[in-house]
Amino acid sequence: MDEQRIQASLKKLLAVFIVICLLLGGLGQYLFRSVSDLYLVSVQGRMEERALQYKKSFQFKMNSDLLMLRVMAHMVEDTIAESGSTEAAGSRLLYLWDASKTAKFGRLCYFTPNGEGMQLSSQRDVVELQTINEPIEMQTVIQQALKGKSVSSNAFYDSYLGYNVVSYATPIYYNSDIKGVLVCSINADSYEDILTSVSSVSNIGAVAVIDSDGKVLASTRTHQSQGFYNLNGSKYLTNGLYSKFMQALSANETRFFEFSFEDLPLYAFIMPMGISEYKIMIVDTDKGVSDSVSDVVNYAHLIAVLFAATSILFVMAVLYMNRRYNKQLLQVAYHDRLTGAYNRYKFFQLLDQRRKKNIEYTVAAINIRKFKYINELFSSVRSDRLLKDICAALNRCIKSEEFFCRDTADTFLICLNTSDRDMANERLNAILEQLKKSSKSIHHTYPIIFYGGCATLDDCVDKNSNEELMSHVMLALSYAKQSQQATVTFYDTKAHDRETLNNYIENRMEWALEHGEFQMFLQPKMDLRKNTIIGAEALVRWIIEGTNNISPDYFIPLFEQNGFCTKLDLYMVEQACKQIRKWIDAGISPIPISVNQTKLLLYEDDYVERICSITKKYDVPNKYITLEILEGLALENLEKVSVCIEKLHDQGFSISMDDFGTGYASLTTLSQLQIDELKLDRSFLMQADQNTERNRRKILEVVVEVAKRLNITTVAEGIETESHSQLMRDMHCDYGQGYFYSRPIPANEFTKKFLQHNVQ
Ligand code: C2E
Ligand code: MG
Ligand code: MG
Repeated sequence: MDEQRIQASLKKLLAVFIVICLLLGGLGQYLFRSVSDLYLVSVQGRMEERALQYKKSFQFKMNSDLLMLRVMAHMVEDTIAESGSTEAAGSRLLYLWDASKTAKFGRLCYFTPNGEGMQLSSQRDVVELQTINEPIEMQTVIQQALKGKSVSSNAFYDSYLGYNVVSYATPIYYNSDIKGVLVCSINADSYEDILTSVSSVSNIGAVAVIDSDGKVLASTRTHQSQGFYNLNGSKYLTNGLYSKFMQALSANETRFFEFSFEDLPLYAFIMPMGISEYKIMIVDTDKGVSDSVSDVVNYAHLIAVLFAATSILFVMAVLYMNRRYNKQLLQVAYHDRLTGAYNRYKFFQLLDQRRKKNIEYTVAAINIRKFKYINELFSSVRSDRLLKDICAALNRCIKSEEFFCRDTADTFLICLNTSDRDMANERLNAILEQLKKSSKSIHHTYPIIFYGGCATLDDCVDKNSNEELMSHVMLALSYAKQSQQATVTFYDTKAHDRETLNNYIENRMEWALEHGEFQMFLQPKMDLRKNTIIGAEALVRWIIEGTNNISPDYFIPLFEQNGFCTKLDLYMVEQACKQIRKWIDAGISPIPISVNQTKLLLYEDDYVERICSITKKYDVPNKYITLEILEGLALENLEKVSVCIEKLHDQGFSISMDDFGTGYASLTTLSQLQIDELKLDRSFLMQADQNTERNRRKILEVVVEVAKRLNITTVAEGIETESHSQLMRDMHCDYGQGYFYSRPIPANEFTKKFLQHNVQ
């Protein structure tokens, strides 16, 4: 996983969290609004309830005042009826004096339809009145009463009494005619008792009975509240709020609204009284309206605030965790668990960045020789410490802009600041020297040996990726591992090509064997004196898609390394037997075929049995098969080889020692091994050919002579010219093999060319 992908997935996660939090926030707000709406409805309900109580109490008081006036009017009517004259009405007032005081009437007046009237003064004197001299409010109710209505006025200032009053008027009948009007005025303050008796308001709240012009009939007289009902000229009300109040008062319906006063939320409820144009107006805080509702709402708000705070904390926690998780993830994703150094992913990322910036660099891989062994020898705990020490040393060694990582086990990758081979070599050697010093911790005497492989982008075909470069680095590291001398090796293209070819060969060899790509070519072995054919050597050819393009000199050593050579050699023995069988069946006198045998075969316990089973399969006498073994092999395990040769001899096979003179086999070896034939390597002949090499020629003569004495026939390899042939003849060498006679050729061709005359 790279950093961008981690970041992207974390961002996604974060986005999901934020969406969840937004949803929670939205839900919180929705809940808050719902609670607020509910709360408003509740406050309105409470206010309405209270207003209805006020209204009822007011109506009751006004109705009872009016009723009292009506009762008095009936008494006046009775007096008129008894006396038969309206003149008696005035005298009746005197009798009503006490009753009017009990009813707390400030004035009690009688007016006739023609505008004349009377009242009793406080000293019970009769005072003459004129309707026209009375305040307009009183005139209005008098007029309405004269029309037969019992009515009350709005509040007004009565100069006679010297305070605000409300006047009531009711008609006085005689014989169904209105003969006058009885009017009383009641102190407006008496209505305030109703307001305070019904329920209380908070010290900031106010209740007022007020008419549509804003004139107050009665109000509670709390501290600041006067400002609200005293609308005209109130210093508390802004213009906007004033018009809101006035609109509510002029509308003949219930109004409820919320406003704020000195940052305090207040609620106003205005309801028509149903008496004159009076409205009951309540202004109060929620607490003033209802403690319980306010508490519930406060709790709801508290919960909403807690909810929001929790959401915020949750988001912050998620952000914090996200950052920490991000860090941890990056630590895990980009660092090696054991050493804490960068890992390969991070290393590659940094390489990518470098490449994009076109900064030249060399990548080196460092390894510890025999680390597995060290692990076993010093326990994994100490080996781990060694790896950590290496990291610490690398941290100290690397220059700015250089970086390294622990790749796997004991492999470390370093990016060096140069692409120059010599400089990189020098630099890496210096680093290895430091590592060597710091690795003494594992054991002060045990030498820890480091080796390294380097490569640059210069040798890469694909200069835009790390893959090819890293395969070059690892290949160079493998050269360094194989090499016993060099501690630092650079990648080279030839070695890479070799590696590629080796891979190709190893991948194809089994398939090639099954599908007949390995073919047997034959090269004649000639009697040097008689110039006649005495045998042939089977040489393998790998024919891939019709062409013979990989030399056995290349693939045979590889097959010896991977063990495939044993299969191939037995296959060649089988091909040789098949050919001999063909010759016999075709009536051709067969000649012996020499087959090259890898040393690996000679170490196999059932080798002799296996080879016998092949000759038996084709019913070929064993004397027709000569087995060529390499000179070097004899020296490796003389005893074992000697036993094997003996067994092969017992079965009738001939043994030839191939390439004599290339290794270190001595003439003594010849005496120790029961070989039948000695093949002198062609390098011998080539050197002997030159005049300057007379001594070698003498050696060759001695070898041939010793072989003869030991009854070993000699074969000169690499006869390319007549003079080669003559030279070997002169040396008394028995046989010759080489291009002079023929190159190795396919078996059919060979038969035609050399064995036609052998037909019996
Ligand atoms: P070798 O067994 O010494 O085979 C002789 C090699 O010398 C052959 O090369 C042959 O083609 C070459 N040769 C023969 N005459 C001349 C000459 O006049 N001049 C020169 N320059 N070369 C000459 P080839 O076929 O390339 O084989 C090379 C080696 O590969 C063989 O050396 C042998 O060691 C090995 N080899 C070939 N076939 C097999 C096989 O089937 N099994 C095993 N184990 N090794 C084989
Ligand atoms: Mg050979
Ligand atoms: Mg040879």
